[in-house]
Amino acid sequence: MKLSHLQRNIISRGPGEGEECSELKDKITPYPNELFNFYEYKEYVRDYYDNGYKTPIETWRQQILNYRSRLPIYLLARCPICGGTVSEPIDTFSLCGPGWGKRSRGYGWFGTIEEGWDPVKRRYWQKPSYTAECQHAKIVEWSVNLNGIEPTDVTFEEIYIYHEIPLLLAVPMEAEGVVAVMHTLPIGRFDDPEPTPRYTAFFTTYFAANNAAYEQAMQKVAEYGEGSIATPPYDWDFEKYLQTKRLYWLDGATSDLKLRNEPAQNFPYLHVTGHNGMYLVIRNGKLEGYNPFPGETFPQFVARKFREMLRKPQDLTH
Ligand SMILES: [Zn+2]
Repeated sequence: MKLSHLQRNIISRGPGEGEECSELKDKITPYPNELFNFYEYKEYVRDYYDNGYKTPIETWRQQILNYRSRLPIYLLARCPICGGTVSEPIDTFSLCGPGWGKRSRGYGWFGTIEEGWDPVKRRYWQKPSYTAECQHAKIVEWSVNLNGIEPTDVTFEEIYIYHEIPLLLAVPMEAEGVVAVMHTLPIGRFDDPEPTPRYTAFFTTYFAANNAAYEQAMQKVAEYGEGSIATPPYDWDFEKYLQTKRLYWLDGATSDLKLRNEPAQNFPYLHVTGHNGMYLVIRNGKLEGYNPFPGETFPQFVARKFREMLRKPQDLTH
């Protein structure tokens, strides 16, 4: 994919033009509301990992708001029911920005930005990071395909890329009236001198025509409303959903990224290759299968984490 593809996905040049940022605007007065250039972006990321963790929570929050407000806003899907758009600021510069360190839990690329308890439904609600023009949008799930490139640039922290091969969440797809829209964005490398498409991020957005049927189906998701709504079981039978016209994609060959669900043979993500893992993680620049404590027993893991925690205050004095 060329950069022109990347440019075409941008639906807003910056804060103030999209709804997403009107919410952030009041909170980010001290910062320039301009998009990062690659140099500024790298400076930001280095500074974040040098100092971000250690700053007080309000400063950290401000840093994250600043980061999101300076990323381009991308179209992720169009609603097949009413045509409304789903969009979000995405870090396409590299996989090193702090947004990639948050895990994909179905609430958008960045994930939950607010949460609380709903006493009527008796469950937690979470405000997703994406902006949807309609109420049909329910889930935005993402993953990354490394396109066979070793991610030696991703060394700041562990990044969960999940599954290189795109999939559908079986539970929401069981519900009558639920359809899915897939889209991809090219992602650069932190060590490139200029932004260059290297990796590919997949975004799948789920829309429900029948909210009651969707809510009922989602009761099967154990953590619904609390942890993740992008949970197993998964389904790779794209042909089945293409035949029943329930799987859509944004057509990268059209300048305005038209929504398509036919002809089925034009679906661009039928033969994606990559590691067939489910919980893939980039750790110290290497792709690994998910293991929360590699090479250790659980007690060893806890002991190591405890030692690391104790060491931290001394590191700060260097
Ligand atoms: Zn809609």
